[in-house]
Formats: sequence, structure tokens, C-alpha cells
Amino acid sequence: MSRVTAFTSMIRVGVNGYGTIGKRVADAVRLQPDMQLIGVAKTRPNYEAETALQKGYPLYSAIPEQSHLFAEAGMELHGEVEDLVSESDVIVDATPSGVGADNCSLYKEHETPAILQGGETSDAVDESFVAQANYDDAAGAELLRVVSCNTTGLSRLLEPLDRTYGVDKARVTLIRRGGDPNETNRGPINDILPDPVTVPSHHGPDVRTIFPTLAIDTVGVTVPATLMHLHSVNITLDTAPTVDELCELLERNPRLFVVPEKLDIEGTAQLKEFAKDSGRPRGDLWENCLWKESVAMEGTDLYLFQSIHQEAIVVPENIDAIRALVSQKPAAESIALTNDRLGIHSRDSYSTSQRSDTAQPADD
Ligand code: NAD
Repeated sequence: MSRVTAFTSMIRVGVNGYGTIGKRVADAVRLQPDMQLIGVAKTRPNYEAETALQKGYPLYSAIPEQSHLFAEAGMELHGEVEDLVSESDVIVDATPSGVGADNCSLYKEHETPAILQGGETSDAVDESFVAQANYDDAAGAELLRVVSCNTTGLSRLLEPLDRTYGVDKARVTLIRRGGDPNETNRGPINDILPDPVTVPSHHGPDVRTIFPTLAIDTVGVTVPATLMHLHSVNITLDTAPTVDELCELLERNPRLFVVPEKLDIEGTAQLKEFAKDSGRPRGDLWENCLWKESVAMEGTDLYLFQSIHQEAIVVPENIDAIRALVSQKPAAESIALTNDRLGIHSRDSYSTSQRSDTAQPADD
């Protein structure tokens, strides 16, 4: 049963935790024709609170004892986080790892369904979510988890391959960025870390929260980089398609950007530069970025490199998760609408600008 009443066709969305993921999700919510951003909750006044106000986002205090800090900084509050939860049809919780699980009692108290992020464990929620893989499983859930950036990237790639050719076994080395560009306290700054040093890493089991029976082993390495992750992928398929057939399959999926040779993009820095030059907000890449030249078949073994923009890839998934939880919209319609509003298109019409014609007024 949809929580969105007959009185309003707009889904009222609150965002609790307005950092790297939360601010991007809030901007994406505002672009959706069927969603209204009720507001965003912040723990303290800072530059992100200031820009939320500049964008006209109603600001709520995440920690009532700290509400006075906003008044002292001259930032007007709409209320406290409980108000945001009670005024919203659904909450996107984008707080740091572990905090989301602590917040669940608040969401349950107000009977407001919530979407947690990949920093939380799967047992904190009813379902883990990747739009193209298991959208329909979200119906009726109270708590959903959009899986981590790496798990989202792997799941998006594995879904069409398994559906079309069958996946016998996936083996992936994840070369992970040390921190996000704004995380001044992360590292390493001059090292290459087996991370975790034990094999396999947790990513494979996390992918199995989406594909329970899939055979996948992952290992992780952390490097001094902030821009993107890089996955070195080897997948043994049940059949042996040609490289052209594989690329055609992958190119049909708008959330997989098969980077053509003609762009002469050598690495993650140039991918990000391309996104910025193309006018993407914050230089965001919402798609998996797969180098077409890296796609190779040896017998039934597929090899490729893909890069994942950790700050952006889960944004479309959060938008689809909102609809999956509280609307009746089918998966294909939601995914197409999200893609259209963000500006994610298939490669023949590569477009990088968001739709702004239906953006809600700044004071909504
Ligand atoms: P972040 O630190 O950039 O943002 C979190 C925000 O929540 C900060 O503004 C922080 O002040 C605020 N906060 C702290 N405690 C709070 C509370 N009690 N109530 C409300 N707000 C609170 O973190 P992030 O990178 O956006 O990560 C958020 C979640 O998304 C985590 O689960 C993380 O694992 C996941 N995730 C992060 C990335 C990434 O690369 N950044 C990618 C995918 C998923």
C-alpha cells in the first residue's frame, strides 16, 4: 500500500545527514517531478548548511541540543529532526556509517520508511537495494539499504551479464580510493595497502545481499587517490560471447558508460575532467565507467576495467529506492525517469546536463 496519500501525488522526502551523499541526493530529489524535498537535517552550522540555505532547502537540526548553534551562526532552522521525520513520506539517511542504524528507532517510531546507505550492515534493514537488480523486493519494506559504491558498481555490471550469458564465477580486485576529496584526515598519502589484507574482502558477500547465489570473490587494495575507485574484473561466463556482443549489451544500459577509444581518456582524472567539462554538477559520474578497449574475452573469461565515482554512483539508486518504497511506479519507469531527470542517457546521445525545466521553486 502506498504511503503517499490521494491528497498529494508528490512524495515528500527528508534527507537526514547532509554530507557527500546527502547533498547530492537532495539535489537529485529536487529534480524529480514526483518528489518534494521537505528539508535536510544537519548536526551543526558549516559551509554545507550555508549552501543548503542558499539553495532554499529547509534546514532542520539533527541534534536538538545543538540547535542553538544555528541561531548563533545566523542560520534559520525549520525545526528539529523529529519534525523532518514526521513531515516526510520517506527519509533518506545519509549519516556516517553506524549512525544510520542508530536512527532507525526514530524512523520506526514515526512509521516513516527510511533508506540507509552502504556504510550500514545488511542486518540493520529489511532489504538491500540496487535498482536494476531487485527494485520489486523493496515493496512493503520499512528499512532499505542502498548498498555501497563498490557493491552498486559491481551489481550493475553483473546483472545484465548474468541475465544474458550466465555468470559462473566473478573475481574482482578493487583498487580503492583512500578518501573523498574533502576528507583531509584520510589516507594513505604514500603507500599501497592490501585492504583488507585478508582474502576475500567484504565486497563479495555484500554483492550476495543483492544476488544471493552468485559466485564472487573480491580482494581490496587502498591507494593514495581521491577521485574514483578502479575495479579489475575477471568474470567466467557460462557462454562465450564476442567482445562486440558484450559491448553492445553494456552500451544499451544508460547506467554503464562504456568509454569509447575516441575520447582518449587514460584514467580517472581525465574521466572526472570530462564530467566537469561536460557540465556535470560537482563533476559527478553517476554511471559505472568501463573502458571499452579493456573489454577482452579469453575463452569464457571476460576481463575489463571499470571506474566508480564513489561520491555519485549511489545517487540514482537512492532516487529509485524512494519510489520503490513508497510509490506504485514500476522499476523500468522509475529508472527511466531518474535517468531522464539527472541527464543519464545512452551513449549514442551522451548528455551530461541535468534537466532543470521542472526543478521546484527554491522555497519548496
Ligand atoms: P559524510 O561524512 O560526507 O556525510 C555525513 C553527514 O552526516 C555529515 O554532514 C555529518 O556531519 C552528518 N551527521 C553526523 N552525525 C549525524 C547525525 N546523528 N544526524 C544527522 N547527520 C549526522 O559521509 P558520506 O560519505 O556522505 O557517507 C554517508 C553514508 O553513505 C555512509 O553510510 C557511507 O558509507 C555511505 N557511502 C559513502 C560513499 C562515499 O564515498 N562518500 C559512497 C557510497 C556510500
